[in-house]
Amino acid sequence: MLIFTKIDELQYFLVQKKAEKKSIGFVPTMGALHAGHISLINSSKKSCDLTVCSIFVNPTQFNDKKDLERYPKTPERDLEMLKKAACDIVFMPSAQEMYPEKDERVFDFGYLDKILEGDHRPGHFNGVAQIVSRLFDIVKPDKAFFGSKDYQQVMIIKALVELLHYTTEIVTCPTLRDPDGLAMSSRNTLLNAKEREVAKIIPKLMQEAKSLKDKGKDVTEIKEHIVSELNMRGNYELDYFTICDARTLKELKSFSEAKEHIALIACYVGKIRLIDNISLN
Ligand code: AMP
Repeated sequence: MLIFTKIDELQYFLVQKKAEKKSIGFVPTMGALHAGHISLINSSKKSCDLTVCSIFVNPTQFNDKKDLERYPKTPERDLEMLKKAACDIVFMPSAQEMYPEKDERVFDFGYLDKILEGDHRPGHFNGVAQIVSRLFDIVKPDKAFFGSKDYQQVMIIKALVELLHYTTEIVTCPTLRDPDGLAMSSRNTLLNAKEREVAKIIPKLMQEAKSLKDKGKDVTEIKEHIVSELNMRGNYELDYFTICDARTLKELKSFSEAKEHIALIACYVGKIRLIDNISLN
């Protein structure tokens, strides 16, 4: 496994591999890796000749400074996991390397970056677009792999690809979960034992939303039920629970308004903000 910290050295290496007609798969991450990240590496390895994983905690996508400061960093463990997964190339740049100057670009994704995560984390998706476009310009991947746990992020990345005319294929991969259903996340390591115990209600409620729909309940009834379940418990602070058209992320009032439906949640357990989603089809 080769480790690069400099953009020009990585580019020099990749240009040669592309000349040899090797296809490049790319998995961008912020480190503190878990099995969910490794599943993206495995998907890339299955369909590409070479897999590049980047580890970079991107400051421009954090609207909350404290969140950035406490974001977990486990570089040695990450490298061990990537080596074990037979990842070919790791790119671990410094912030100075990625942003020698302030990135002033402002992307407009219409309503898509203003709702849900965009609404609760102003500037978040602009920062995501800044870093992903920089990484795509460096790696020029044939395919890039993203997790559907960050459902809105995948839609933003697809919009970015259209906006900047990238030829990279965006591959969406399923969410890996702990045995009790909690979606794996680097942030889970920040939960204390009690918080980790209460966090498992999130996937339980998402499953409940699905079974309520299967029983014929409509959007408003399901939303009311889930929100009151959470409020009753009191250990959570809900940012949103909503049901949307899975293709557009427009919020629904009734299932009849769309063909594919998705429920999305963001809530705090203690100081840690967790997100999850479930397809309701
Ligand atoms: P992050 O390091 O949190 O920025 O995530 C890097 C990539 O891993 C993103 O495409 C995430 O959607 C994806 N990812 C995060 N958690 C999971 C998970 N539990 N299962 C699958 N992919 C995930």
